[in-house]
Amino acid sequence: MKLLVVFDFDHTIVDDNTDTHVMKLGENGRVPDFVEAKQKKGHWTAFMNSVFSYLFNNCKISKSQYQSILSEIPLTPGFATLIQYIDSNNNIDCIIVSDSNTWFIEVILSLHGISSVPQKIFTNKAEFVGGCLKVSPYHHHDHETCPINMCKRKVLKEFVDAKKEQGIQYQQIFYVGDGGNDFCPAAFLQENDIVFARKGYALHKKLRDCDIHADVQIWDSGLEILPFLEKFG
Ligand SMILES: [Mg+2]
Ligand SMILES: [Zn+2]
Repeated sequence: MKLLVVFDFDHTIVDDNTDTHVMKLGENGRVPDFVEAKQKKGHWTAFMNSVFSYLFNNCKISKSQYQSILSEIPLTPGFATLIQYIDSNNNIDCIIVSDSNTWFIEVILSLHGISSVPQKIFTNKAEFVGGCLKVSPYHHHDHETCPINMCKRKVLKEFVDAKKEQGIQYQQIFYVGDGGNDFCPAAFLQENDIVFARKGYALHKKLRDCDIHADVQIWDSGLEILPFLEKFG
């Protein structure tokens, strides 16, 4: 009997958006209009590369300055306890599916000493190239309503299918998220599963207008999710 917990990252595990938070490294604590102008709907990864180029070329921002600003972002209330519980329970697997990037997520998880908890992290790959941070799209997909670089439903389906092939079938899936791009994977879940939508955020609003198969629970703190894990065992 195994439970899979799928976490989004920004505004779910951490109480901020990592991408917009690092923009505070820009002059006057923001990125200028000429960089902002490069933003196109569904093409966030390309926009972030413009932000990283600006921060490197115009502001000489170093790796340690990124680390320092990322260290300001707190875990969302209740998530330290929630993640600790998952870590101590062999019947619960967890993964992260995020539109942030590998480097930001690894820096933050290791700061909080929880790097080893997620079995896998699915996100855009990021690395420093000649001192400048560069992010590349996670994968390609043909789902029109999802951002061009990531369909979280495709990621989740491929993970569950690969596990099935290894002989591991999850009895239940919990999906914990907040954003508009969490709706697609949420709609993939079945009657027995639970979607935990953060109160007042885009996913919560979307779920008010659209019916999905899974049960929907609204959360404000990770501590409200904990009893559902305890019930599983
Ligand atoms: Mg999010
Ligand atoms: Zn999708």
